[in-house]
This record gives sequence, structure tokens and C-alpha cells, in this order.
Amino acid sequence: MDLQGQNGLVSTYRQSWRNRGLAGVLVSALLVTFYLVLYFEDKLEKVIHMRPLTDFATSVGLRNRWYLYGLLYCVLMIVGGALYLRKHGNSRYNQLRIATNVTVQVLFGFLLPFIMPLFNGPELYVSYFWPLKYDYFYPHTLQDLPLYFAAYTVLGSLLLAPIMAYFFGKRWYCSWVCGCGALANTFGDPWRHLTSKSTRAWRFEKWSIYLVLGLVLLTTALVGMDFLVGAQHPTFHRLVAGEHWDDWSLKYLYGLVVGAILAGVVGTGLYPILGPRVWCRNFCPMAAFLGLVGKFGRFRIRVKPGMCISCGNCSTYCEMGIDVRSYAQSDQSFTRASCVGCGMCAHVCPRGVLKLSNAPRGQADKKRQGLTVVDF
Ligand code: SF4
Ligand code: SF4
Repeated sequence: MDLQGQNGLVSTYRQSWRNRGLAGVLVSALLVTFYLVLYFEDKLEKVIHMRPLTDFATSVGLRNRWYLYGLLYCVLMIVGGALYLRKHGNSRYNQLRIATNVTVQVLFGFLLPFIMPLFNGPELYVSYFWPLKYDYFYPHTLQDLPLYFAAYTVLGSLLLAPIMAYFFGKRWYCSWVCGCGALANTFGDPWRHLTSKSTRAWRFEKWSIYLVLGLVLLTTALVGMDFLVGAQHPTFHRLVAGEHWDDWSLKYLYGLVVGAILAGVVGTGLYPILGPRVWCRNFCPMAAFLGLVGKFGRFRIRVKPGMCISCGNCSTYCEMGIDVRSYAQSDQSFTRASCVGCGMCAHVCPRGVLKLSNAPRGQADKKRQGLTVVDF
């Protein structure tokens, strides 16, 4: 029994599968193995002469292993979402957020892309935008998309997403719509306290996330250039957009390193070791882009002055490794580019100190000071 009565705050460190104990390491190993097979099944087939995920997917009537992955993703999110709401469902914000997460993923992340090809339609993912769905801005992809969807994805990525981030912070996407964030907030929730709050982790995050954003910009620009001049420059074409794995093209490497290893193997496989937002915090170019916009926008976490008792619940539960307590102790409302607006810091605060706000900035909020990151 959790005697503290803070939504399982004490028990977070008591269970082996949640405190990097043996059970947690085994769950992580299982997830990593699954992702390695998912991404590299073609290579594995040369060794074991079978395609385990593809064979299983087709045996249950799914077209390929990616639909099997989509189905498992939805199941984990629904089960994880129900367990999350059992602990934290006493808040309307959490109820609406998790219901939206699951609905968006089931409808737009699985059912729509599965059903449309049955009627000879295209496989479209309406809840993903560039630069997260990096190939949506490759000219060949845009050419193959229906015109209405090409317009939607360009305008959605360059206008809708940043405008929404200005008014609501990146929470509208990272905590309500995005499939990666939705899995982290449901299936990954039991490990949220494992996100590092150390200064070293914060320094790493600042470099890594903007490095990936730079890489996606470079890759998109060079693939676009290749579309225009690649036919006359075969070496440039091979280095930038070569389709075979042994070309080691920039496009192939970005997909392999960022799209498969960082987003899948590391980003989800290591939930039980590094917490559920490893990808979002350190590598997601969409999070970097929306976080930059959000710095100039309205969203912030308001702190009620003189109320904090320094219990640290908010920092413990912050899945992005933000030291919320240090702001609360200093009576300092704040905006952080990495904050995904999950609302858990406010939810677990026993004194009601914190409030997520989109209201235009008042005079008090304008006076922000840089706080040293506390290493604990
Ligand atoms: S600061 Fe609060 S709202 Fe932002 S990511 Fe951390 S817990 Fe979620
Ligand atoms: S803001 Fe609330 S949860 Fe965070 S340290 Fe202060 S009292 Fe505790």
C-alpha cells in the first residue's frame, strides 16, 4: 500500500520493473529485441531463413509487419492508458488528454492507413508532420501524394503546427496528438520518474536535439537539390539519395540512425532504463522545432508564490527531466523549450502550486530570470 497517497509516488521506486532492477532490464531487452527484428528483419532472414514478424502478421490477416506493429502499438496504448487513468484519472485534463491520444492513434495511426489501401487509396498518416515524418517533404513523396494531402502536410507542418505551438506550446502536439508522445504517456508512464534530472543530461539534450533538427534540415534540402540536379550528377545522387543500403547515402543514414535506431530501438526500447521520453527529449526534430516556437509563445507553467513546500513530487514526475521544484522554490513562472505540457507536475503537487497556462503574458511573467540547473 502506498502510505503517502500521492498517486504511487513511493511505489515508483519500490518495484523492480520500475527501478532499473532485473525485471526492468528484462522488459527493456525484450523491447530492444523486438525493435531490432522489426527494423532489420530482412537482414535477419539471411541468417535464420524466416521472417518472424512478417510471417506472424500475414498469418493473422495483416498485410505486413508494420500493420502488426501498428496494432500492437494501439493495444499497448489502450492498456497503458487505462492503467494511467486508474492512477491519475481524477483530473479532467488527464482524462481528455489520454482519450485524445488513444483516439488519434487508433483512428489515424492505424485504422485509416489500414483501410484506405483496401479501397486502392493511399496510405496516409494525418497525425504526423514534417520534420518528424521527414520523408513527407522529399519531392518524390510529395509527388506521389494526392494533391489535397500534399497541401495538408506542407501547410500543416509549416503553418498549423508552429501557430498552434505559439498559442498552446508544444503540448498540443507532443502530449495530445503525436503517437510517440502518446505511447510515452500511456504504456511508458510507469517509468516517467526515471528521466534524468542531472546537469549532464540537460547539456546532452541541448546539443543532441538541435543536432538532429540540423540534420533533418540538411537532409531535406539536399534530397530536394538531388531531385533537381541528381540526374546530371550521379555521384551526388548516390551520396545524397542512393536507395540501396550499401550506398550509405545521407537519406538512408538519416532513416537508419534517426528513424529506426534513435526513435525505435533507443527511444522506446529503453523506456525501463532511461524513462519514456528519451526520443522526445533528446532527438525528436519536431519537438525541437515546436520547442523553439514555444519559447516565444504563450504557454508557460505558472507558479503561485510562497506556496511550495519543496517536496519534489513535480521534479520526480517530470518526464522531460525539468527541475520544476527549483522554479517553484523561487516563485518563478517559467517556459522551457523541452516541456511537453503533460501536466503531471501540476497534477502531483500536493499544494496546487503549479498551473499550465496559455493566457497572454502578464507583467509578473515577463520578469523571468535564468535559474541554475540543480543537479540532484
Ligand atoms: S514541466 Fe510539468 S508539464 Fe512540463 S513536461 Fe515536466 S511534468 Fe510535464
Ligand atoms: S511545486 Fe508542489 S510538487 Fe513541486 S516541490 Fe513545490 S510543493 Fe512539491
